[in-house]
Amino acid sequence: MARDPRYDVLFEPVRIGPKVAKNRFFQVPHCNGAGYRDPMAAVEMRRTKAEGGWGVIFTEQVEIHHTSEITPFIELRLWDDRDVPPLAKMAEAMKSHGALAGIELAYSGINGPNLYTREVPRAVSAGPILTFTSDPVQARAMDRQDIRDLRRWYRAAFRRSQQAGFDIVCLYGAHGFGILQHFLSRATNQRDDEYGGSLENRARFLREVIEEGREETKGEMAISLRLSLHEEGPKGFSNEEVREFIASHAELPDLWDLAQGTWEKCSGTSRFVEEGAQEALVAGIKALTPKPVVGVGRFTSADAMVRQIRSGVLDFIGAARPSIADPFLPNKIDEGRIEDIRECIGCNICVSGDMTQGISRCTQNPAFMEEWRKGWHPERVRAKGESGSVLVVGGGPSGLEAARVLGMRGYAVTLAEAGRSLGGRVTQERRLPGLAAWGRVADYRVGQIAPMPNVEVFFDSRLTAEDVLAFGVDHVCVATGALWRRDVVARYHLEPGVMDATMPVYSPDDLMAGAGPSGGRVVIYDDDHYYMASVLAELLVARGCAVEFVTPAAKAAEWSDNTLEQGVIQRRLLELGVTLHLNRAVGAVLAGGVEVECTYTGRLGVLDCDAVVMVTSRVGQDGLYQDLRAREAEWAEAGLRSVRVIGDAEAPAPIAWATYAGRRYAEEMDSADIGDALPFRRQVVGVAD
Ligand code: ADP
Ligand code: SF4
Repeated sequence: MARDPRYDVLFEPVRIGPKVAKNRFFQVPHCNGAGYRDPMAAVEMRRTKAEGGWGVIFTEQVEIHHTSEITPFIELRLWDDRDVPPLAKMAEAMKSHGALAGIELAYSGINGPNLYTREVPRAVSAGPILTFTSDPVQARAMDRQDIRDLRRWYRAAFRRSQQAGFDIVCLYGAHGFGILQHFLSRATNQRDDEYGGSLENRARFLREVIEEGREETKGEMAISLRLSLHEEGPKGFSNEEVREFIASHAELPDLWDLAQGTWEKCSGTSRFVEEGAQEALVAGIKALTPKPVVGVGRFTSADAMVRQIRSGVLDFIGAARPSIADPFLPNKIDEGRIEDIRECIGCNICVSGDMTQGISRCTQNPAFMEEWRKGWHPERVRAKGESGSVLVVGGGPSGLEAARVLGMRGYAVTLAEAGRSLGGRVTQERRLPGLAAWGRVADYRVGQIAPMPNVEVFFDSRLTAEDVLAFGVDHVCVATGALWRRDVVARYHLEPGVMDATMPVYSPDDLMAGAGPSGGRVVIYDDDHYYMASVLAELLVARGCAVEFVTPAAKAAEWSDNTLEQGVIQRRLLELGVTLHLNRAVGAVLAGGVEVECTYTGRLGVLDCDAVVMVTSRVGQDGLYQDLRAREAEWAEAGLRSVRVIGDAEAPAPIAWATYAGRRYAEEMDSADIGDALPFRRQVVGVAD
């Protein structure tokens, strides 16, 4: 199919200093949890973006010197010449389809605790390290010699970036993380020498670094500046000052890459932030400078992108998460395949990979970070093997993804769903406050399997072992999901407690099905710690309930720190008038209330209520699988060669785990049994002399 002419503007080439980007699709720097530990995983991930049509592709942040590092977070390093080869591979991968390759250089200053190198952190001004982990470490203020050293290290980083083959150097001064922002901001720059005070002085270091970088690379590399659009606080580098700075340094970098103040704000989830939410902060900046401007906004709609360009807000469409969920987003727009775009759902599970020092994963794109490790590709799957037919039982995220990928591979797929719609848990959860975009998990997959002649879907089909054995297929994949418990069993209590039969107790499934209280005083007990309890609190407030939120954790929705949502969740609960009972566990459920235990002292109290909602843990619904296992002797006669259980039915987890399980099942169909071997490639550190 041909591209819709109204999207032509997105495919215009744009000059960035000495380089020209082939189009306006700009993959801004984003972390991925691989970094220096798994560089090849990152290399192949970036290569898929190149293949998918992005005009500019960046690395994540690259630490330029050992005196500033952000352990425990795993990013890239360019500490000396030995770091050049993996980065050269990355640049080569990025340029493999005509994209410009960018490297984001970072020196973390007040943001880097140096837990690994043990160097005393150096910052613009002295003070405690400002990062997520409240490390009991302070930075010292740099003196003039330190500043000269840092300029030399930037120069060396420019040289090595050029050696590695990059086209663009991005200087990181956004999200409060980079020292360039620390210089610019009066909050972190209290110097009284020529590097502090006036904006002119605070910008001096940046001017020097850019000038020296240009000299070092003989003007052959483009230089972009990644700045925060708005830093909060009375002395923060506010949007007003950002505009003043850009106006007075209009031609300093070759490109302005503008990101919202904090990472939490910049990468807001769809629960709290709309597509294109930064527009007010970035609008009008283009008029201050002749250099191109890039901004982000979780853009997945081609029309929204065009509007940003046509209305003169942006020159480039910046994207991190949309490029993770669909590395082929530009090509799909180019080829007139809008309906094939796998839209980011804005869940920030990708961010959690970095925050937990795991490796990132994506709810929508299970191939993300598995391109090298497992040889998965976001758009291509391996050829069909020798088997003929597969029955997938359950149309939730895992079953849908299994059916989609098996269908692409060419198997005869039957998808049997007990209910009347596809999507499983997503069908329910998308109706909860703020989670509408999560429905894209189902919509994308339903849209993809609909035209496949080899995938047949049956509704109202709650299958039993008897049905399955009578079906006559080669393989069965049981993806029947999970149900929430209606008791206290989770992490704090491993056993159910006493429950008075007169107290109404509900599970999240009950509430999602429309049951549960509408009014009165309700205790929500959260020993799950992710989003569900807080979302249900919002739902119950909207239903007119007075909500008491009880959790053994020290904060509400504790795990959502990893999706950058915890602060905004707790704020919302407080603003809604929800009462928080932190470090408290619900024990016995009584006639008129619940027993509440202090998790530190064991002291007991009673909280009166009219109903209780337990958000504790889930139980995999693997009954069908167990029944089939029990009848293994009958498989051969039924022609059945394998039965597997996947997704939440095997072990409940977030949606990303389910789509991954579906992909894995489908990818591994008819592949040789690898026994106990590691199921993915990894890089092993060699033995040093
Ligand atoms: P997952 O996250 O692993 O995909 P979900 O709970 O989202 O799991 O989806 C499970 C789906 O399986 C639901 O749509 C449910 O209706 C369906 N299901 C459960 N048991 C059966 C069964 N015996 N036969 C067919 N479908 C089933
Ligand atoms: Fe988007 Fe979620 Fe994938 Fe991140 S994990 S790219 S937020 S869908």
